[in-house]
Amino acid sequence: MAVNVFDGPVVVVGAGVAGLVTAHLLAEAGVKVVVVEKFSKVGGLARSYVYDDFVFDIGPHRFHTENPNIKAYLDRVLKGDSTAFPRKSEVYFAGKYYRWPLHPKNLVQLPLPLAAKSAVDLAVNGMKTYGNGNFEDYVLRQYGPTLYEHFFKGYSIKFLGIHPKETHPDWAKVGINRAIIDDKLQMQNLAQLAKSTLLQYNKAEIDFIYPKGGLHVTWQRVSEMLLAQGGRIITGVGAKLIPGNGRIAAVEFGDERIEPSAVIWTAPITLACEQLGLEAPNLPYLSTLLYNVLVRRDVPREYQWCYYGADDLVFSRVSIPRYFSDDTVPRGATGLCVEVTCREGDERWMHGERLTSSVVDDLIKVGMVRSRKDVENVYLERVPHSYPIYHTSYPQNLERARKGIAKYENLQLAGRTGMFWYNNMDHSMENAMQLARKLLRDSGRPDTEESVLAAGANVAGSAAPPNRRQAG
Ligand SMILES: Cc1cc2nc3c(=O)[nH]c(=O)nc-3n(C[C@H](O)[C@H](O)[C@H](O)COP(=O)(O)OP(=O)(O)OC[C@H]3O[C@@H](n4cnc5c(N)ncnc54)[C@H](O)[C@@H]3O)c2cc1C
Repeated sequence: MAVNVFDGPVVVVGAGVAGLVTAHLLAEAGVKVVVVEKFSKVGGLARSYVYDDFVFDIGPHRFHTENPNIKAYLDRVLKGDSTAFPRKSEVYFAGKYYRWPLHPKNLVQLPLPLAAKSAVDLAVNGMKTYGNGNFEDYVLRQYGPTLYEHFFKGYSIKFLGIHPKETHPDWAKVGINRAIIDDKLQMQNLAQLAKSTLLQYNKAEIDFIYPKGGLHVTWQRVSEMLLAQGGRIITGVGAKLIPGNGRIAAVEFGDERIEPSAVIWTAPITLACEQLGLEAPNLPYLSTLLYNVLVRRDVPREYQWCYYGADDLVFSRVSIPRYFSDDTVPRGATGLCVEVTCREGDERWMHGERLTSSVVDDLIKVGMVRSRKDVENVYLERVPHSYPIYHTSYPQNLERARKGIAKYENLQLAGRTGMFWYNNMDHSMENAMQLARKLLRDSGRPDTEESVLAAGANVAGSAAPPNRRQAG
């Protein structure tokens, strides 16, 4: 039986980027939509925390896309209330700060033995053969043993909590490449490095886009647009899937029960499996503790974010919201968003408060805060399911879970957490546009294009399904 989203309400589980954008586009097309969100606020991993006049996101969060549909959608939502700026990120290594992504210029600035070794590695790396099976192989092939040992190995163990040999190469492809080669620098060997450096020289980088007032402004506006189209958003309550006859017969939340035409699931895939009584897949998620530090003065460095790989520092990254938008802090003050990764329910997760003092000490140690007296307050926030952990076996485990879920004809997985997908906001938005288009097409709206959905042109006018349009 085909799914027709005009036959009954669509329930969207999760009000993150994927859930909100899918719901908004469907509502604009005349579909009855109900969004159910477990957390008290919308935005998912792209939410913000507001403490009086300080705004913090979950780590560094900016839009970075060349997709015209995503840009059109952002224009429609933000209406010019955004800033655009180039990247300014750093890495802290052996007591010094370096620009990140590493540039040939910085390689020279590294301690001499390390610079020399890295250069030799890069010269001969093209002649070596490496395996293909894990993160370590991938990084060795791409950057050589010296940079692997000094930069990537320690950071990735500290951040992800598993050894690079146990980590799937996809983690490097999506994670490192996105973080490091936004520049599109090819570093496999010296010849390639030289070539891409030259090609790079006059090339303008695409700017980041950031909403004025904080990232949450985007999702507030999408929510308002969704509500204006008659959609509902219910926060602070988890959704429960009730299966029956190869479909999701009902979704329950609080005291409500809805019999949906379709369910868009953006919450953890592991939770969907649990609720449907499927075998529990081995698909673990990383969680993040955010220490949002309010500093009542300027800080010495002006990076947007910086990676801290050293073992003796408690955090792995610090970002500064002020360098995304200066209206996220009072004048003369600075917010420092400090990230510490963990697993939900582990020692750190349960007793994160015990690390607050070490966080401040380590900020002083790396020169970001001059003295404890400068720190006005530290807020601890716990963020579950912040990253999918890509073990080498994750593709098979994910495939099995997806097959089990595919048996429910009106259930669609979407987004980062729902699809166990290490992605960015623009990817979740693209996913939402594709999904909305597919659902509308399958329900008798063959004319729907993603570009039309993105720009919002004529969608409301031609919204009703054929039978409703005829009914006038
Ligand atoms: C530290 C960090 C930095 C990042 N930086 C960037 C960046 O700079 N640029 C960029 O583009 N992207 C960035 N990202 C990625 C970006 O945050 C995600 O791609 C995006 O937010 C994913 O949105 P989503 O809707 O797909 O998933 P999610 O945001 O995970 O949404 C899932 C939602 O489901 C809800 N939920 C869970 N269980 C239930 C339940 N039982 N019932 C109802 N609801 C439930 C959750 O609360 C959540 O709101 C970053 C991510 C992290 C963690």
